[in-house]
Amino acid sequence: MSSRSTQQIHVVQLYPRDMNIYGDYGNALVLQRRIAWYGYEPVMHSYDPGDEFPAHADILIGGGGQDSGQDRIQQDLLSIGERLHSLAEAGTPMLMICGLYQLFGHYFETRQGRRIQGIGLLDVTTYGTDTRLIGNVVAESDQFGQIIGYENHSGQTYLGDDAQPLARVVTGEGNNEQDPHEGARHRNVLGSYLHGSLLPKNPAVADFLIAAAVQQKFGDSLGDLQAPDTAPVSLTELTEKARRSAASRPR
Ligand code: GLN
Repeated sequence: MSSRSTQQIHVVQLYPRDMNIYGDYGNALVLQRRIAWYGYEPVMHSYDPGDEFPAHADILIGGGGQDSGQDRIQQDLLSIGERLHSLAEAGTPMLMICGLYQLFGHYFETRQGRRIQGIGLLDVTTYGTDTRLIGNVVAESDQFGQIIGYENHSGQTYLGDDAQPLARVVTGEGNNEQDPHEGARHRNVLGSYLHGSLLPKNPAVADFLIAAAVQQKFGDSLGDLQAPDTAPVSLTELTEKARRSAASRPR
């Protein structure tokens, strides 16, 4: 294996101050650790309203938040919208959870009929409801197998023609109470309602983001490389335990 330790992968976490609940920060930690396992140097950035946008952004992630948090970041998000669109169209991998998933869509209309405008990077729209969808979710995806996580949202999201669903719900609700879809995808941009955090229980999704980033930046393929399991107890085993436990918990 050629030495990759000088090759940097920049991970940008969008709005961690306002949009980071139910353990979403865990997604950043998993990426940091797995990028290093694959032999690259992870460089972690936090981006909050008013910050200078990092010059390098190879993977972008973002989490959930209250409606008030969405209000606080909205103007700033709109101001970097064009930049995010061009990164997405260039193939940059992104993972947006819940509140930021909603604002990567066209808009979130609150229960009171107020629209929080999004950047329309995903062809989805969200409407606030009086029902809160809460609990553990198991969803089946073609690319990542079973995706397991935890949802808590009153906004319900509908996909337009240009968004593919990320997965099909087996247990739980996902995007809304009407159709069985969970999350959305456009190019390498994934949106999902699943906290928990998502990536510790779904390393296949983490590795998809990393593989897309190193392919795009260095033309590398993760190929058959296994992320070494250096934890004191087997991480694969722990991950499996976490998945089994979350999947078997009552809603
Ligand atoms: N405020 C949004 C909703 O309830 C987002 C919630 C969240 O990010 N958990 O639908």
